[in-house]
Amino acid sequence: MIIIKSDKEIKKMRKAGKIVAGTLDLLEKNIRAGVRTDYLDRIADDYIRSKGGKPSFLGYQGFPKSICTSINEVVVHGIPDSTKLREGDIIGIDVGVILGGYQADAAKTFTVGDNIPPETLRLIHTTERALYAGIDRCRKGNFLGDVSHAIQTVVEDDGFSVVIQFVGHGIGRNMHEEPQIPNYGPPGRGPRLEKGMVFALEPMVNQGTYEVEVGEDGWTVRTKDRKLSAHFEHTVAVSDEDPLILTMP
Ligand code: MG
Repeated sequence: MIIIKSDKEIKKMRKAGKIVAGTLDLLEKNIRAGVRTDYLDRIADDYIRSKGGKPSFLGYQGFPKSICTSINEVVVHGIPDSTKLREGDIIGIDVGVILGGYQADAAKTFTVGDNIPPETLRLIHTTERALYAGIDRCRKGNFLGDVSHAIQTVVEDDGFSVVIQFVGHGIGRNMHEEPQIPNYGPPGRGPRLEKGMVFALEPMVNQGTYEVEVGEDGWTVRTKDRKLSAHFEHTVAVSDEDPLILTMP
């Protein structure tokens, strides 16, 4: 069952979403070669708590840190550690916040330094465009499959691969609620969207094969061919009019 949120609940999620957006902005300003991912984790955790929120990921099914930092061939769920960012890396950062009992979740892929190959920038831009194509389908009366299909179309038209093993999700009081939202599939299928549904859309896009594998730590998801992967995510509410992006600044 997809839980419908009242306007009041969506306002609460929007407050959590502002903290998520503020965290990603702060992290962007601190991304440079030589910075350790556990430093990024620490400043994110401090910022979230300074705003009265709690990091959703810390302790979630045993996850040991407050954000996910996924470098280069890491698709999602990378664990912050003593790894230093290097010139030319890309890093996907995923941030979740709980405030007043409600969650918001977003992710963005950043570049380290200015020396990024055009093909890498294209992967990142396509992933972000795919997210926005999905967001634009989050309108009442559409089918959930329309959202998935819009994401897949942007990705595959640009010659990249959609990860199928991990998907977007409903979100509210819990970080993961129904429905699952694959980043692929036919249009015109699945539940009809209604006002008050809130989704975390999150295309994970690979330069090479769609296949991924989970590392020995039980978390870190890598591309099987070790080519690059990008990840963008927003928490989005279906309204009477345009979709509401709750994780905007
Ligand atoms: Mg998510």
